[in-house]
Amino acid sequence: MIRLSGDDAVPIAARIIQTRNGQPVEDRASHTICLGVVHDPSTGEWLDEIMFAVMRAPRTYTREDTVEVYCHGGTLLLHRILDLLIRQGARLADPGEFTRRAFLNGRIDLTQAEAVMDLIHAKTEAGHRAAMAQMGGELHRRIVHLREEAVHLLAEIEAGIDFTDEDIQFLSDEHVRTQLSEILGRVESLLKTSASGKALREGIATAIIGRPNVGKSSLLNALLMQNRAIVTPVPGTTRDVIEDYLSLDGIPLRIMDTAGLRDTDDLVEREGVIRTRQAIKQADLIILLLDLTQKIGPEDRRLFEETDDKRRLIVFNKVDLLSQKSWNQKQADLAKKIPAKAVYISALTGEGIENLKAAIAFEIHSGIVTCGDREAMINNRHKALLLQVKDSINNAIESAIKMGSAELMAMDIRTAVDRLGEITGATTTEDLLDKIFKEFCIGK
Ligand code: GDP
Repeated sequence: MIRLSGDDAVPIAARIIQTRNGQPVEDRASHTICLGVVHDPSTGEWLDEIMFAVMRAPRTYTREDTVEVYCHGGTLLLHRILDLLIRQGARLADPGEFTRRAFLNGRIDLTQAEAVMDLIHAKTEAGHRAAMAQMGGELHRRIVHLREEAVHLLAEIEAGIDFTDEDIQFLSDEHVRTQLSEILGRVESLLKTSASGKALREGIATAIIGRPNVGKSSLLNALLMQNRAIVTPVPGTTRDVIEDYLSLDGIPLRIMDTAGLRDTDDLVEREGVIRTRQAIKQADLIILLLDLTQKIGPEDRRLFEETDDKRRLIVFNKVDLLSQKSWNQKQADLAKKIPAKAVYISALTGEGIENLKAAIAFEIHSGIVTCGDREAMINNRHKALLLQVKDSINNAIESAIKMGSAELMAMDIRTAVDRLGEITGATTTEDLLDKIFKEFCIGK
């Protein structure tokens, strides 16, 4: 499909499209589909038989006149038709330009534009639903509401400043403080969604750690094997890498690779320790794997200590190697030694893998992803701005408490209003837009 948008979209398309019944393209009823042919006006050559739709502003994606041409596809054909359109005065769109225009023409705000990209990059169902909620304006509404309240309060305070000479008490300090605390509370609850948003967008960084030969690679395979169907390649996008994600309850797990290192010589071992430490540091969730057939050794203990402050699951592998009797005995022994509850699996036979998945899902829902996938979830850009809003409101509260500094208070609230405006794009700069939309792919 080729999409043209802008004031000249219809006249340009009209130069290369002939309808089958001879009706001029310009006269087509808006939002209807029509059969036609593409021809080269300079030679008269017919290039393709197509369907096309003229969609008149403002009821379009960009709020501009739009023509969509549905052709037969094929690289050469598409290039020839594009070339033809460019010769008639069209130009190629920049990455994300359609969405950028939708934003600039006021159809969507910046958070909704960002959601379009989240939607395209969504790796699992939960991420997809969150992106849809944001595209539907969930976050937009909250920010706009917050900003309106701050603007309202600002107006009241400024009115108070203007009349200070006249001895009229416009606002009680109590009222101002209550309002500010309320705004602060809502900013804070939005900030809390940042971790969930990150987890859904980028995946939950999960590290499987354990000493060599406990079965890390085997576990990774066991987990991935059962999920082959939903491993998501991301081709043709700006990132252009193929990443493996494991979907659990619709939430993406990004499994970090600490396997593949063997203890054959010192150097590799040291490298292994460094890599494992890095993985531990970055991980949202640690799966600490132990070998049920081996004694817990100093290296296991070190891993225990290094992950003590992390969200962690302790997993014993190779249950298949123990007889029922020795297994019961072992479990009783371990229950005494290991304080937290552990999961017992066999990466080889698949026994206990479902239990492990349930345990992982429980960890995710009880701490890493804390809000529902239909709620607004902020991204890093929103977070940075909301932190500034929080600071400003805190400063304003300070000023309110210290009394007599309505001017300072007004200044801080104004900063908060500006930052909130930056989130939705009410106030914005070209640089910021360039930064956001360069992440998009062409044609979006
Ligand atoms: P890694 O070094 O931690 O990645 O360990 P690997 O996954 O490479 O496994 C080391 C060895 O243990 C391999 O020979 C695996 O086949 C074996 N292994 C892994 N998991 C199990 C298991 O659950 N049961 C049994 N019997 N062997 C296993």
